[in-house]
Amino acid sequence: MEIPIEMVSDEKGYLDRECPHEECEFIFKIHIEDWKNKVSDEKVYCPRCGHIAPSDQWWTQQQLTDMKEIAMQWALSQIQKTIQKSFKEMSRNSNKYVEISYKPGKKVTFQNNPIGQQEEWELEIHCDLCGTRTSVIGTAYFCPCCGHNAVDRVFNVSMDRVKNQINSLNEMQELLEKVYDKDTATIMIQNLIETSLKDIISAYQKFAMESFNKGCLKKVRPNDFQIVDKGSRLFNEYYGTGYEEWLTSDEINFMIVMFQRRHIMEHNNGIVDDRYLHNSNDKTYRVGQRVVCKKEQVLRLLEIIKKLSENISLVVIIV
Ligand SMILES: [Zn+2]
Ligand SMILES: [Zn+2]
Repeated sequence: MEIPIEMVSDEKGYLDRECPHEECEFIFKIHIEDWKNKVSDEKVYCPRCGHIAPSDQWWTQQQLTDMKEIAMQWALSQIQKTIQKSFKEMSRNSNKYVEISYKPGKKVTFQNNPIGQQEEWELEIHCDLCGTRTSVIGTAYFCPCCGHNAVDRVFNVSMDRVKNQINSLNEMQELLEKVYDKDTATIMIQNLIETSLKDIISAYQKFAMESFNKGCLKKVRPNDFQIVDKGSRLFNEYYGTGYEEWLTSDEINFMIVMFQRRHIMEHNNGIVDDRYLHNSNDKTYRVGQRVVCKKEQVLRLLEIIKKLSENISLVVIIV
């Protein structure tokens, strides 16, 4: 038994989909034409987590509910048809001992209402490789059709997100003070600044690794770009140019200090030790102090990393 169900796109032509991976359940939109013509039956990629599943597993909860409703209506109308038919026959065959009269009741009619979509979203992404159009709220990493991960775009989106976060700290502090108290709000904001620093550096490491691999077969890992000198050396060796040609020595030294601070925040709860002082050449702290992370520093690092990444993108394309 097959009930035909018609899908209708939103105003921009998109269809809602949901990742079947139980940890993810990311809801995204894909252009209905691309879904029909480009996406394969066997392999669809989740834009957020990269999970791969056949194309019939991407219904959203809302679509499943709507479909159940349609199937139920259809089944009811079928049952009613059968009952009406047999009662009609019985009343026709009634004899002098039994009289069955039949009056049809209110009819349940089956109406296959097409399934609509959530209203359209702002961010539309076109895949560089296959041209598939996706629309998401939040961050997406993979093309649902070919699984391509657009390194530059993902990195820029992450940088913009951190910048917006840092720039809205004052409003956030005010809001948090209303919900909690001044102490709690201040601690949360401080955590957020430290998290932003970690986010910038880990996004950069991933970006640098993937960009590096675009024009070079040498196997590198994100951690190879955790040490500023080492990252620069890799580009010098394999691309013939490095950080010192793209950044001033002030900028490089600042980057070294911030990368090292992130490192001790991650591994030593932010407490300064000899190794930190040696690796960072930071003269502002002594052993045993806790480093402080300021939003101005995070913003400065962000600008430096952006400048660096733009140069990396250029050099890996030219090669
Ligand atoms: Zn997913
Ligand atoms: Zn693609």
